[in-house]
Amino acid sequence: MSPQRGRLNIIGAGPAGTLTALLLARQGIEVDVYERRDDPRHARAERGRSINLALAARGIRALELAGLMDDIRPLLVPMRGRRIHELDGSTAFLPYGQRDDEFIHSVSRVTLTRALIAAAAEQPGVTLRFGQVCSGVRSRSERGPGALQMRDESSQRPYEIPLSPTLAADGAGSAVRVSLAAQGRLRVTETMLDHDYKELEIPAARADGALEREALHIWPRGGFMLIALPNVDGSFTATLFLPRDGATSFASLASDAAVEAFFQREFADVRPLMPDLLEEFRSHPQGRLGTVYVDPWQVDGELLLLGDAAHAIVPFHGQGMNCAFEDCSLLAALVAAGPPAQSPDWPNVFTAFARERRPNTDAIAHMALDNYVEMRDSVRDPKFVRQRALAQELERRFPERFVPRYSMVTFHPEIPYAEALRRGEVQQALLDEVDAFAALGTPLDESSLRARIEARLSRLKREQR
Ligand code: FAD
Repeated sequence: MSPQRGRLNIIGAGPAGTLTALLLARQGIEVDVYERRDDPRHARAERGRSINLALAARGIRALELAGLMDDIRPLLVPMRGRRIHELDGSTAFLPYGQRDDEFIHSVSRVTLTRALIAAAAEQPGVTLRFGQVCSGVRSRSERGPGALQMRDESSQRPYEIPLSPTLAADGAGSAVRVSLAAQGRLRVTETMLDHDYKELEIPAARADGALEREALHIWPRGGFMLIALPNVDGSFTATLFLPRDGATSFASLASDAAVEAFFQREFADVRPLMPDLLEEFRSHPQGRLGTVYVDPWQVDGELLLLGDAAHAIVPFHGQGMNCAFEDCSLLAALVAAGPPAQSPDWPNVFTAFARERRPNTDAIAHMALDNYVEMRDSVRDPKFVRQRALAQELERRFPERFVPRYSMVTFHPEIPYAEALRRGEVQQALLDEVDAFAALGTPLDESSLRARIEARLSRLKREQR
């Protein structure tokens, strides 16, 4: 390690902050991480707040790069596909991919965070400081250099630290972003969804024998849905996504009787698996969901927003954390590309990061919104089911050119999100065309199908898997 590579502040010890700290300290940078919460290795998990997450190939690739997958693999439960539960109690299984290795994993947010923090704590060069809140940023001016305004939670003592260089990985509600936006240094658009979410528990004893373990369960109901992801202990965490207001909404579920009647009507098969439903519905928070667009992501080459602080998205593609992990590996690669024995040229690194990353984070923000409609509605639509089967058939026949969009995003980290979005649009037009010819009774033959695919879809650069 070279001691002259300088210091770096990171605000937030979530997935983005901890993984970045680890990767940059390994390159000889002294990293100070400031986290507002207590050390999660010793603290109890919060109830009802995003208990488990889907981890997919992009996240796994970043964690492998950091050499952490051996520690994290035992924390994962595979999810091989979606189990769709209809109103009449019938179910159908839609596998996520077609190859044996094409599945995603459920992981507890708190155990994953603990594993990342443990790895960062062991890394020479990383100092983790818990109970330290960043309340704002004082930008550089003629009166002096910029500073991060901090507060120690236990003593309530305010203090300042030099701003440059800082990575703000303080999540979707980023205090750093709010402070800089208030000073006119960043333009921020937050597009809030008019649907909220609430997490509910299915204990292991009830789930056993009733819910197949290696699946993501969905109860799609058109304008809303319930989903459930498995946990290592055999329990499931269910999440209800529902409009905030209106006839069928969180606002309409203001009494135990209303909640009971709603679950009996819409989710009769899962209701007996939730013994504490009414108490949990009352006490668990009702979370908000939205997409955050920020421009620029950096200020004066001194501070860069990273992860959800820069580009929070809705959770329906299960990609927010996966995308944040990709941020970390890109940033580490840009630092590694600079001269090894010097402090990184942060302004250049920040500019290159935003140039390469923004088209991709914009693309996944778009696809995540699309996926809400797919999960709560389209999965029951015969046209969607038919085109999904056709897309999988085209992937089998033309694997070097046609990969369903969900698979590109979830299983192919070598295909950037922006490329997945672009190719997905071309592929959708092809699927509509094939469907239209079939509907006319004149299905496309092999050679005209091949000609259309080869004309519109370039050969993919494949990674060895
Ligand atoms: P965060 O995880 O938010 O971490 C930020 C950290 O900064 C926290 O530790 C916080 O305590 C700390 N902090 C905040 N403010 C301050 C401050 N002022 N001072 C000091 N520290 C501060 N993603 C997936 O990939 N798969 C999924 O299945 C998935 N499901 C989701 C389901 C829901 C309901 C939600 C809401 C999100 C989901 N996500 C999912 C998204 C995922 O949670 C985020 O994208 C990911 O956590 C982003 O990581 P981050 O490190 O950028 O931010």
